Amino acid sequence: MKIINTDLQARAVLQLVTATALFFAGLLIFGYRLLEPTQQLLYHSISSSFQVMMIAFGGSVLLRCYRRERKSYRWLSSALACVAILAVVDGLIGSLFDRFDAQIPTLVYLAFLPMAISLVPVFPGTEQRKQWQQEFIKLNAAYALGLAAFSVAFLMLHLFLKSPLLAKHPTGSLVICVTGILAGVAVYSTHYRGRRPLPRLSSSSSNFASLAIFLVLVFGVGMFHTEMSDLKAEGDRSIKQLRDSRAAIGETTVKLFERLAERWQLYPYNVHSRLMEVDLNAYLQHIDFLEALLLVSPDEQVVFERLKPSRSSYLEEVMSDPVVLNALAEEDQTTDILLPLFATEDLSAKIIVRVPVDFVEEEGVEDSGVYRLLAVLDARAMLDSAMMNTLDTDIETYDEVLPGMWMDRSGFWVSPVTRNYLEDTAILLDTSNVNLYHTQDVPVMAYLYQLDNLQETSNLQMLIVVGGIGLVLLVVLAVERNVTLEVQGKQLFYQARHDGLTGLMNRSSIEEYIGKHFHESQDVTVLFIDLDGFTLINDSLGLHIGDAILMQLAERLQEQQPRRSELARFASDEFIMVLHGAVNFPDRVSSLAQEIMTTVAQPYRIEEHKIYLTASVGVAHQTGDVRTPLELIQRADMAMHQAKRYGYNHVQEYDKSMAQRLLSTTSMRSNLQEAIENNELQLHYQPIVRCNDQRAVQVEALLRWQQEDGSYIPPSEFIPLAEMTGQIVPLSEWVFRRACEDAVRLQQRERSLRMSVNVSALHFNRANFVDFVLHTLAETGCRANWLELELTESILLEGTQYAIQRLDELRKHGLTIALDDFGTGFSSLSYLKRLPIDTVKIDRSFIAGIRHHKSDRVLIDSVIKIAQSLDFAVLAEGIETPQQAEFVTDLGCNYMQGYYFGRPIPLENL
Ligand code: C2E
Ligand code: MG
Ligand code: MG
Repeated sequence: MKIINTDLQARAVLQLVTATALFFAGLLIFGYRLLEPTQQLLYHSISSSFQVMMIAFGGSVLLRCYRRERKSYRWLSSALACVAILAVVDGLIGSLFDRFDAQIPTLVYLAFLPMAISLVPVFPGTEQRKQWQQEFIKLNAAYALGLAAFSVAFLMLHLFLKSPLLAKHPTGSLVICVTGILAGVAVYSTHYRGRRPLPRLSSSSSNFASLAIFLVLVFGVGMFHTEMSDLKAEGDRSIKQLRDSRAAIGETTVKLFERLAERWQLYPYNVHSRLMEVDLNAYLQHIDFLEALLLVSPDEQVVFERLKPSRSSYLEEVMSDPVVLNALAEEDQTTDILLPLFATEDLSAKIIVRVPVDFVEEEGVEDSGVYRLLAVLDARAMLDSAMMNTLDTDIETYDEVLPGMWMDRSGFWVSPVTRNYLEDTAILLDTSNVNLYHTQDVPVMAYLYQLDNLQETSNLQMLIVVGGIGLVLLVVLAVERNVTLEVQGKQLFYQARHDGLTGLMNRSSIEEYIGKHFHESQDVTVLFIDLDGFTLINDSLGLHIGDAILMQLAERLQEQQPRRSELARFASDEFIMVLHGAVNFPDRVSSLAQEIMTTVAQPYRIEEHKIYLTASVGVAHQTGDVRTPLELIQRADMAMHQAKRYGYNHVQEYDKSMAQRLLSTTSMRSNLQEAIENNELQLHYQPIVRCNDQRAVQVEALLRWQQEDGSYIPPSEFIPLAEMTGQIVPLSEWVFRRACEDAVRLQQRERSLRMSVNVSALHFNRANFVDFVLHTLAETGCRANWLELELTESILLEGTQYAIQRLDELRKHGLTIALDDFGTGFSSLSYLKRLPIDTVKIDRSFIAGIRHHKSDRVLIDSVIKIAQSLDFAVLAEGIETPQQAEFVTDLGCNYMQGYYFGRPIPLENL
């Protein structure tokens, strides 16, 4: 089951959400910038290099969240990391793409550089990483976390500051802080501890994260846009106001002096001077901003200068000013507003209004030409009165009256210091060229001078966006947890019903299945399939090989599965196939069972091994007398055990006698104890003959248990039972002692006959087995070389090396060793090579198959050849016909045993 490490999962969510936020934020700001170029001058928020860096950073990490295993994604991610590095470099050297100045400190770009480097292809997938890369990555994770923390601190700082820290625009500054947080967290999640890959997130949470983050950011950009539009509109308004007020004030002022000139032109010649004097006094007294009035004759001589009482003469300045001189020299003497050069040196500007005065001529006097009235005005005083009723706003407007000379709306010249401040810090809202009264195309700009209000709004907006991202993070985490819980729930459910190794149904679910059909269709057939000698494979070749075999077998069996059937792994090497609707077709079932046996018998190739196996299959059909589903399984199990007793590799259908036998085994257990005590056991002897002359050379001692009625219980029934109950040890000791005694007797009768004794593996593996043998030999006077011990491969259960040592020791004393029932268990001749044995006894099931199965013939042939090449003698068990005897003799077999030569009989009858 996929165990979810919650820490890793949280990191994966952090990685996904932060990378998505970074990517979309960069993309949206970039898109906004392209689609809304009119606002560019306005927002000065973050440079395009920074935007590209955001996109590249976010994209690079984001790609690592998806399809990590795809090479193309990894490469794309690395390429984006390279783009991020380029963007950083671009930002450091001054952005190539920016037409506005965001004023981001170079340190900000530098802060992102190490993290961008850590994402490039020099740092490949986790497995291939070298030590130093690993260290760098880990260091970077720490750095990223530090940067994120630092960015949080900076973000908080903005709440208390009146103007932005990291960029010209408050929003820009905040975006940088948030980028620091997001990128820091994203890189930290990617690199933390430098190794473990993060779990893949479910598509539902990834999709939700993308959509929700996108919406949050669109909302953020929307808020920004509205605010900026408002600001721009306000800037527009300010400019318009400036233009209107300037025009109005220009017009009234100009009109004022034009009217004066008009009046002077109309005054009759004789009262002329007096009336003019009155006018001059009135104007100078009542018009605040009027500093001086000069009348210049057509030949450019100053006729008079009149001053406000407090002012000193402008005569020299005016009459030496190139602007004024130029204006006086013009052909076309109309009303005009002049900005004299001398006025630019002062703090506040002076404006000169030039009005032509064409005096009424005296009769008969030649027209002397047009006089010019020059009114010197104080711009600040003039505008101040006009600005009294303008908006209360943080926006300052300036007009560039002369190239390089900016005048604020109150008529003050803007000092270079202020201008630098404006360009560096204030936000340019709008520029336009306006026509003022008598002056065309004056560039006018509106600046947001005080940023605290904007800072406050930006803080609020950013908090909303960051809050939104945080919320998405929490929701994604919750969704992800939910999804994993659901998946785990499904997995748990699956696991509760299926076998972990093979994926087949497990015991409880197959029982449930049987139960269902048992009552519904009442037509259930159970095939109980058990591998022969499977434990040996596990013990000798290792559990992993055993597991691999079981998996292969499960696959093969699944392919064999007919319609309307289920397959389950019942226990370690036991499989159950359940059919329904097959009770009336026993032939089909038995041919299916045969097919299963053939399938099982196909070699298993695992690693360098080629393994052969057989299975015993028990079949039970549902009949009226089966009361419970469990009983049906029990019957199939019983039949399977019977099949094993018939020498493995066998199919057995259940019949009633088996149940009776089962009943008797229970009673047998207690009876066996009595039998040992009451000497009800006997040994019978079966001859073993040499192949070339068919002379008996040995006898095998076989245990017999005679019932009161004279019948025998076969050892294949009570020996496994005794092995199970532990009674086998006293039993085996009894057999050995009796065999030794009989061997002495036999030797007295016929010297050449040796004796073989079957030894249970359980007995053999007892610690004092060798001592027991030697002791008994000594006691009975039996010589070691009269005896052969028959052991099965199961002696290897407790470790080959141990068995080999014992066998060597026994052989050293003169006993010989035969490997009994060869071919039924786990049989690999190459494996036998290491065992110190003398004879291999080929199991009688192979001999029985000689006539019909070519495979058995081939097998016997090769076993004989290989065994002899290893210097083992070969004995064929179960020879029942002369043909079989001839066959094995022809193949070069050494010894034979079987009913053909004699059944097991008491020693006296030999
Ligand atoms: P095994 O050691 O392979 O003994 C040979 C078995 O094959 C004997 O069965 C024998 O009666 C039977 N047999 C011999 N020739 C033929 C033949 O031509 N055709 C057929 N169909 N069968 C033949 P038995 O006596 O029933 O013994 C069965 C198994 O019980 C033995 O197989 C041996 O593994 C075990 N066993 C018998 N006696 C002892 C004993 O004293 N101690 C131990 N530990 N196991 C014993
Ligand atoms: Mg034997
Ligand atoms: Mg045998």
